[in-house]
Amino acid sequence: MKLKTPFETSFAKTVDRHCVLVEVEEEGGEIGWGEIPVDDNPYYHYETVETSLYIVKEFLAPKLLEVDFSKPADFLNAVSKVRGYMMAKAGLEMALWDLVAKIKNKPLYALLGGVRTKIVSGVSIGIIGNMNSLLKSVSKFLDEGYRRIKIKIKHGWDIEPVKIIRKVFGDIPLHVDANAAYTLENIDIFQELDKYHLLMVEQPLHYEDLAEHAELQLKIKTPICLDESIKGIYDAKAAIKLGSCRIINIKPARVGGIEESMAVHDYALKHGIPVWIGGMLETGIGRGFQVALATLPNIKYPNDISASNRYYEEDVVEPPWTLNNDGTITVPQKPGIGVEVLEEKIEKYSKRTLEIKVSSV
Ligand SMILES: [Mg+2]
Repeated sequence: MKLKTPFETSFAKTVDRHCVLVEVEEEGGEIGWGEIPVDDNPYYHYETVETSLYIVKEFLAPKLLEVDFSKPADFLNAVSKVRGYMMAKAGLEMALWDLVAKIKNKPLYALLGGVRTKIVSGVSIGIIGNMNSLLKSVSKFLDEGYRRIKIKIKHGWDIEPVKIIRKVFGDIPLHVDANAAYTLENIDIFQELDKYHLLMVEQPLHYEDLAEHAELQLKIKTPICLDESIKGIYDAKAAIKLGSCRIINIKPARVGGIEESMAVHDYALKHGIPVWIGGMLETGIGRGFQVALATLPNIKYPNDISASNRYYEEDVVEPPWTLNNDGTITVPQKPGIGVEVLEEKIEKYSKRTLEIKVSSV
């Protein structure tokens, strides 16, 4: 799907969004949808469109027969022999959750124990590289109602944009996301950013380096939020025990789906670490799972869950996700993810379809 405008981070620029959509159909004809929000390259994450198709077909789908469909939480266990490939696993697991919620005739968020019917949205602004365009963009998103502004930063585009946003827009909820672009040698940049009272600084250092994040957190006041580093519950435990972060951004697809997201959420709650839900330019399908998870009790910051029109001219779901005037998104009350998936639109954008039949006969 073509993005309305290219989205640039410290490591890549996305013009067209690729992903794998998963449709599971049970014998009775009920259908569930999931999404594997991979890219066509391994720059943000090692999984790609091609690896996902391979892993799903060869190793994950054949395990579906071992899963009790009334408990999609069991899926991750059933595929635990496969190491990694959490996004591929998440896509299948989410489709099972959507399917089960529909069979039970319940909205997904209710099945997960969600506690709110509206979730708060923030917006993420890529590296624009031009101060005037940045200010225009911030102003437009604030007008639309977004409750928090996050800007992507990289070397040469960090302190200045923050300084000018604070000068023009005052004390708005603001945070920065470095996508692992810095090292401990850049500590002066983060100490300088401390002056601007940011809500958090997201993933400043290398995505594998929990130790150095702990060291950095000791030397700066702004809470560190880990994103890429948290690939599942074990990373969350290590990061919290080491003091590597004070906030966690849970990306449901990155950690392996709904069950693992809930495990990270619950562990963080127990240890007084607030969380929020992030995204990876998902279509309206993946967004449905983000919205459901954002209803959980320990979600304490605005989520990176924007309206469909933030990224896409047209979405593949009906109704598209929209932002209320107060910067919230209403949680659908229909069964499953609560939006209708438009198969004709998916066909229009599809480059390839892979059909896998799993049968006990
Ligand atoms: Mg991030």
